[in-house]
Amino acid sequence: MHGNMMFQPLLISNLIEHAEMYHGDTAIISKNTDGSMTQTNWSKIAKNSKRFANVLQSFGLSLSDRVATIAWNNHRHLEAWYAISGSGLICHTINPRLFPEQLIYIINDAHDKVVIFDKTFLPLIVSIKASLPHVEHFICLDHYDAAVIESFPEVKFYDELIATQSDHYVWPQVEENLASSLCYTSGTTGNPKGVLYSHRSTVLHSYAISLPDSLNLSAHDTILPVVPMFHVNAWGTPYAAAMVGCSLVLPGPMLDGVSLVNLIDQYKVTNALGVPTIWQGLLTAAHDLGSRLVSLKRNVVGGAACPPSMITTFRELYQCETIHAWGMTETSPVGAVNQLKAKHFELSEAEQFNLRFSQGRPPFGVTLRISDEEQGMKELQRDGQTAGHLQIKGHWIIDSYFGKNENALTVDGWFDTGDIATLDEDGYLSIRDRSKDLIKSGGEWISSVELENIAIGHPEIDSVAVIAARHAKWDERPVLIAKKSVASQITEADILNYYSDKIAKWQIPDKVIFVDVMPIGGTGKLLKKDLREKFGSVLLDA
Ligand code: ADP
Repeated sequence: MHGNMMFQPLLISNLIEHAEMYHGDTAIISKNTDGSMTQTNWSKIAKNSKRFANVLQSFGLSLSDRVATIAWNNHRHLEAWYAISGSGLICHTINPRLFPEQLIYIINDAHDKVVIFDKTFLPLIVSIKASLPHVEHFICLDHYDAAVIESFPEVKFYDELIATQSDHYVWPQVEENLASSLCYTSGTTGNPKGVLYSHRSTVLHSYAISLPDSLNLSAHDTILPVVPMFHVNAWGTPYAAAMVGCSLVLPGPMLDGVSLVNLIDQYKVTNALGVPTIWQGLLTAAHDLGSRLVSLKRNVVGGAACPPSMITTFRELYQCETIHAWGMTETSPVGAVNQLKAKHFELSEAEQFNLRFSQGRPPFGVTLRISDEEQGMKELQRDGQTAGHLQIKGHWIIDSYFGKNENALTVDGWFDTGDIATLDEDGYLSIRDRSKDLIKSGGEWISSVELENIAIGHPEIDSVAVIAARHAKWDERPVLIAKKSVASQITEADILNYYSDKIAKWQIPDKVIFVDVMPIGGTGKLLKKDLREKFGSVLLDA
């Protein structure tokens, strides 16, 4: 017997309709590509998204055609997002920091029919457009500009297109399992592969990340997604923001620490989200500008391990509670979020703090396990000690990659994340490493993350990476690559000495290499692959 309740498909258009109806006057602040600010609200965003849906319809596209966006976090991008997915098309967000060859590969692989881009990327688009045979329309996400026409005569302008359309558009009631958006993995560990989200997975993920024990989003908040909309859909925040009706501050192209501190202070941001490298820049800027980041109650750090020293700084200097979260493109992305449970408040401050360093526990909707092998089905103990291959299943977890017929799962239906981790009895996750970054020294595992967390705690070190260098006797040994802070005179011996009372002797890196710049990838993460290529044989050469 079925239940007697209404069935309504879970659709992305429901989110924008809800925000329009119940949070219409809630502010959306947006920085344009030229640095000017636009103040709009959910009602205007919804109306423009319906105008743009009419534009897309006039192009004669078919259901599930792909529409690409190469754009910053700004209000027009947000409108276009809802228009694309809401009207049954697939919003393919593209990372503009990829190499031109990768962009061409991705756009052709996805068969994008329309490419929407911010003016910043005009030279890039002009340089690759001849290699994009499937693209029928190029739209500049801006007002009319004769200078753009000069280098790109066939381009259309977003503002002109929507100006001629009605804001009356009835969102189609498509099936909830229909694809809504497409995002390629950022390729730090190989060729980019497409992950195709559905309306249903997106709406369920939005519920999950909004919960108080999750990213804790509500209509009380003003949220600053520093994480780009092309990095796993800004971790789902533009969808969840419409669901809870919070205010958004969209930072546009300026993601440097000073710009972010100014946005936080001026628009009273309560919660901001980004990868650790972003926060590093922000903390330096807040210190230099003398800002107290008064409005910032919480910040979400994910995408790479958050160094414990960063959590301490936010808490002690800025009274800001750092929420450490774990996820990946294949998991929409949120798979675990660090929030304590009632019983933990009986622990000492130090014990609570220790718990807060981990990547947290899964929200309802996903399940985690650790397994003895990548393809293995033997679940290892959840004792907080035993490390294994982290695997996940749930409502918003990938089943197969875009355009690939075979499923991407283990034989018993779990997705192997490529991470090595421990889980404790309550499901708290500690990522030890990526399986590719682990250092396998004489049959023992050494976690690069653990060594990095120690080194970054040194006051004269700006950023670090530990890589596995090939070793004649031990197979692999850790090598620390470090960037010193500006005036530092620190030496290799000082750093190795710094490790001596913090970790077992055999885990201390064999060598320290100082560099002036660290290689950072398109989503702000350190490119260890590049460092491995450059320094992977230093111990052999020696
Ligand atoms: P890419 O794999 O190209 O870097 P993703 O953004 O999908 O693209 O990265 C997912 C990976 O990032 C995870 O598998 C994990 O290794 C790492 N990661 C994400 N969040 C964290 C975190 N909080 N702590 C440690 N590692 C993390």
